[in-house]
Amino acid sequence: MWKLVKDKLLLPYLAMDIEYYDLHIKNRDATDDRVTIAAARAIMKHRVGVKCATITPNEERVKEYNLKKLWKSPNATIREMLDGTVFRKPILVKNIRPSVSVWKKAITIGRHAYGDVYSSTEMRITAPGRAELLFTPLGGGSPIRQTIKEFRGPGIIQGTHNTDESIESFAKVCFMYALDQKIDLWFSGKDTISQIYDGRFKDIFEKEYVRNWKEKFNRAGISYFYTLIDDAAARIMKSEGGLLWALKNYDGDVMSDMIASANGSLAMMTSVLVSPHGYIEYEAAHGTVQKHYYKYLQGEETSTNPMAIIFAWSGCLRKRAEIDVTPEVGSFADKLEKAALSTVASGIMTGDLLSVAKQSPKNRKVNTEAFIDAIAKNIRKKLFG
Ligand code: NAP
Ligand code: MG
Repeated sequence: MWKLVKDKLLLPYLAMDIEYYDLHIKNRDATDDRVTIAAARAIMKHRVGVKCATITPNEERVKEYNLKKLWKSPNATIREMLDGTVFRKPILVKNIRPSVSVWKKAITIGRHAYGDVYSSTEMRITAPGRAELLFTPLGGGSPIRQTIKEFRGPGIIQGTHNTDESIESFAKVCFMYALDQKIDLWFSGKDTISQIYDGRFKDIFEKEYVRNWKEKFNRAGISYFYTLIDDAAARIMKSEGGLLWALKNYDGDVMSDMIASANGSLAMMTSVLVSPHGYIEYEAAHGTVQKHYYKYLQGEETSTNPMAIIFAWSGCLRKRAEIDVTPEVGSFADKLEKAALSTVASGIMTGDLLSVAKQSPKNRKVNTEAFIDAIAKNIRKKLFG
C-alpha cells in the first residue's frame, strides 16, 4: 500500500529528493537496528519525516523472520531520540459521521508517552506490615519517608513517577501543536485528588503557557484551558470538536482508542510525532495490517484503506512546503487530501468504511488498488481539470 501510494499518487507529480531508510524488520535485524537510529537522525537533520508502519517483533515474529533478537519498537526508539509526543487526529469525511453526533470537527489527542503506570514498580502484599514511600537523596542528606498504608491483611501497592523535564517537553509540544493547527488546547488531570503528582502537571502547563504561549494564543484567537479529567470527559461529549486534548499517559491511551473507534476506522486516524526541538514525523496510526497482508500474499483480494498513509504524506509535504517556502508543494498536498476525501464522499470506499458510512445506493466496496486508482483519477482532475 505504501508503494502504491508513492507510485500512483506522489511520484508522477513531485520530484522529491527523499532520504530513504528501510525499516523493514529484516533490515533492522541485518543492521543491528542502526538503521532506525540513522532514520531518527535524518529526521533531526531535515526536520521532517514520514514513516511507514513497522513490525514491533514479538516471539512469533522472531521465529517468522529468523531474527537475532527481540528488537525494540522503532517507534519507541525514534520517539526517545526526538523527545517527542504523539498526536492522533481523525480524518473526517462528510458521509462517515462520528458516533457522537455533535462532533463536527476533529478531536486530536496528545498523549504524554512517558512514565506513570507504564514504568511503574508494583508489589503484592501478602502479610500485615507497613508500606512506605522512601526517597534517598544522592548527594547525602536525610532520606524522606512516608507511610502509604499500614496493611492488616493482603493487598497491592504501586510506585509511579514522572520527571519535570519530560512534563515540560510534553507541555511545550502541546502548545506548539495547538498553535500550528490554530485550535484550542485542553489539558486535564485529577489535581484535586492527586495534588502533588497531577498538580505538578497542571502547574508546569500553566507556567509554560503564561511564559511562552499566552500572547501567541491570544493573537491566534485560540485558548488554553485546564479542567478536571471527569469534567473534560463530560464536556467532550457536548463539544463540536476542533481542539487538542492533552492527556497524561494512561488517560491518553484510553481516550485515543475511544476517539479512534468513535470516528469509524483505525485507517481514518493519522499520527504525528512532534518534538520540542522542532522535528516532526508523520505516520498512519494503524500498523502493518497483518491479517490483510497475509491474505494479499496468498493472492487473495484485499480491501485495505490507505487514507491514513495518504494523510501522513500530505501532512509531511505541507510541512516541507512551509519550511522550504514552496507553496506549490503545499497546494499539491491540499489537492491530494481533497481528492482522497472526495473519493470516499462519492461512495467509493474500502471495506472498513462501508459498514460505518451513511447508507447510500452509491456506496460500493472496492479493493485496495481500485481505491487508489480512483483517487489518482481525482487528483488528475484537480490538477489538470
Ligand atoms: P493493525 O495493523 O493496526 O491492524 C489491526 C486491525 O485494524 C486490522 O486487522 C484491521 O481490522 C484494522 N485495520 C487497521 N488498519 C487498517 C486499514 N488501513 N484498512 C483497513 N483495516 C485496517 O494492527 P496489527 O495487524 O495487530 O499489527 C500488525 C503489526 O503492526 C504488528 O507487528 C505491530 O507491531 C505493528 N504496528 C505498528 C505500528 C506503527 O508502526 N506505528 C502501529 C501499530 C501496530 P480487520 O482485520 O477487522 O479488517
Ligand atoms: Mg490504547
